[in-house]
Order: sequence, then structure tokens, then C-alpha cells
Amino acid sequence: APGSTAIIGAGIAGLACARHLQAAGGSVTLFDKARGPGGRMASRRLGEAVVDLGAQFFSVRDAAFRSEIERWQRAGVVARWPTSSWQAGPEGWSRHDDGRPRWCGAPRMSAVTRHLAHGLELRCATRIASLDHREDRWWLVDAAGQRQGPFAWVVIATPAPQARALLAAHEPALADACDQVIQRPCWTGWVLFDRPLPSLPDVEDGWQALRLAEGPLRFVARNQTKPGRDDQGESLSLLARLEWSRVHLEEAAEAVACQLLDAFRDSLPTGTRLPEPVARGAHRWRYAQPDVFAAGEPVNRDYRRASTGLALCGDAWRGPRIEDAWLSGHHLGEALVHQPTLT
Ligand code: FAD
Repeated sequence: APGSTAIIGAGIAGLACARHLQAAGGSVTLFDKARGPGGRMASRRLGEAVVDLGAQFFSVRDAAFRSEIERWQRAGVVARWPTSSWQAGPEGWSRHDDGRPRWCGAPRMSAVTRHLAHGLELRCATRIASLDHREDRWWLVDAAGQRQGPFAWVVIATPAPQARALLAAHEPALADACDQVIQRPCWTGWVLFDRPLPSLPDVEDGWQALRLAEGPLRFVARNQTKPGRDDQGESLSLLARLEWSRVHLEEAAEAVACQLLDAFRDSLPTGTRLPEPVARGAHRWRYAQPDVFAAGEPVNRDYRRASTGLALCGDAWRGPRIEDAWLSGHHLGEALVHQPTLT
């Protein structure tokens, strides 16, 4: 394994990389600016309810990721969801099922990343502001001016714009690569009700997830139907369309929450009466979804610099899903294990 490694960002990519390095005997320290790990697999507790604010579920295509999901399933931190998925369009609601199994963190999306963080050295509430490279060693300078280090390798596992800010002074070529990735924003609204939504005519066996073909909203999840949450009341996650989010990016969260709830109301069959919400809000993700192919960049390019000991991982370098982010971190971990230690 390489010498000591610092990983900036404890989302699923940074955690996957860290676990691989630690299992191979490496010494790893993770840093995250947030209060806990998870990044965009975030969940928030609101009274008795837990709502997922970022990713709502995930699917699997790759064999290595499939094996990992089996391990998570054995650990009890994921389960299948949804079982009843619908699509709302101009013609009304129709069943939407492509047969692809989907998964969800249980009893909250962040259960997966908490599980992965277990046993790793993780320093939360530590925003890394700059990097310092001297005598073949890296030092990290946090927002409070504290120096952390030295490390032989630094892995930056953040969205591309945040990675760019850290590495521009050291690796102009990697900064250029960051510029090729457009990381698009997304608003997620949430709303709590004190009683269940009315059942809808023609929507047999209820609904758990709803796609919307047009308007400000693109996806609605009923959080209490997710695995492990049947003790909580009705709560919705309302995911805005990316283009709508871009246009409304600087609006107040309350105004955004109202518009997303109105869009949901409009998608319901005429005459459906929603109960009054007891709470609502919205979370702004500035770097929600990477457009990896924006500049025709090849996927899976190698974003390592053995000469200085700097590497990048995260969904920005592979594709816009949890699976891509995990694979990106996992493969980087595999590659770093075979790097000679920089001594
Ligand atoms: P992140 O999770 O963003 O982790 C990066 C971490 O770096 C963060 O924790 C951040 O706090 C930290 N950080 C950043 N800068 C610094 C710094 N300077 N110092 C210290 N720490 C720093 N994927 C799916 O598969 N299915 C879905 O349904 C789905 N829906 C989504 C819905 C939304 C609203 C969003 C936002 C994303 C969705 N995704 C979905 C995408 C999925 O969440 C991401 O692809 C994945 O979580 C990215 O993981 P990551 O580790 O690459 O990055």
C-alpha cells in the first residue's frame, strides 16, 4: 500500500477508496466539511420522520458493485425499494416499472455511508481550504488554518469544482480536467403531513415513487414507504428538474418548497385534496449531478499523478450515480495499493 493517504471528502467515493486502502494495510485519514459522512447520500431527521435529501435509491449494473450491495444487504443497511412506481404525464398516472431492481439505504440513505465509515479515521466539520506540497509530502490546511499531515498521497473525492479549487495551484492539467465536467445543481424539497395522503382512484396498491414527465418536478418519493421507516408518518421528497433548479438556484428555500409542492398538487387527479403540510423546506445542491460527457471526456480516465501523489475520484469522473461514485473510489483504491510508497 502507499504510505499515509489523506482523502478529502467522505461521500461514497472517498469511503470506498478509504476502505480498500485500509484493508490493504494502508494508513488513511478522511476529512469532510460536513458534520458527518455521506455527502449527497444525505438524510435529515425532522421530528419523527427521516427524509432523504439527495439520492433516493440506486440501481446496479457492475458485478463488483453487485457484490458490495450483497455485503450491505447482509449488514442490514440496504433493502429493495420501491415496489410501486408510477409516472405522471398529460394523460394522467400510469404504472412505471422497467423491471430493474432498485435499492435504498435502510432505515435511511445515510445508513450506507455510516456503515462504510465505521472503523475509519474520519475528521468531520473540517473543510480543507488549501494544499501544501513540500519535500514530497502533502500538508492539508483547513479553514481554521490548522495544518494536517504529512501525507504521501492526497485523494480529492469531492465534486469537480471543489476539487479544482484545491489542486489548481499544483496540477494545472487536472484543473483543466475539472473544468471539463459540468456539475449541475438540484433543489430537493421536503414536506411532512400529519396524516396519510388520500388514496388515488386507479392507483391500485398505493404508490411509493412518482416520476413526472414535465414541469418543475421530476421525482417524488414517499419516505415512509422506504425500508425500515414504517413507524413514521407521511413525508415526501420532491426532486426538482435540473433545468428548473438552475433557473431558480438563488431563490429562498421556502419559495422553492412551495413551488415544488404546488407542482406535485397539480400532478394529482382533479379533485384530490391534500392534507395541510405541517412542515416543509428545501435543500439546495450546488453540485448535484455531473455531466461527465459534457466535453466528450472518456469515462474511467486515470486521474492519478504518481509524480506528486495526487489523485481524484468521485462521480464527476465516471457517471452521475451512486454506483459510478462507488466504482470510481473503489478502483482508485485498487490502483493506489499498487503504487510504490513515496518515501
Ligand atoms: P459526494 O457525496 O458529494 O461527497 C463529497 C464530499 O466532499 C461531501 O461530503 C462534501 O462535504 C465533501 N467536501 C467537499 N469539499 C470539501 C472540502 N474542501 N473539504 C472537506 N470536505 C469537502 N444517484 C443515484 O444512483 N440514484 C439517485 O436516485 C440519485 N439521486 C440524486 C438526487 C440528488 C438530489 C442528488 C444531489 C444526487 C443524486 N444521485 C443519485 C447522485 C449520487 O448521490 C452521487 O452520485 C453520489 O452520492 C456522489 O458521491 P461522491 O462521493 O462522488 O460525492
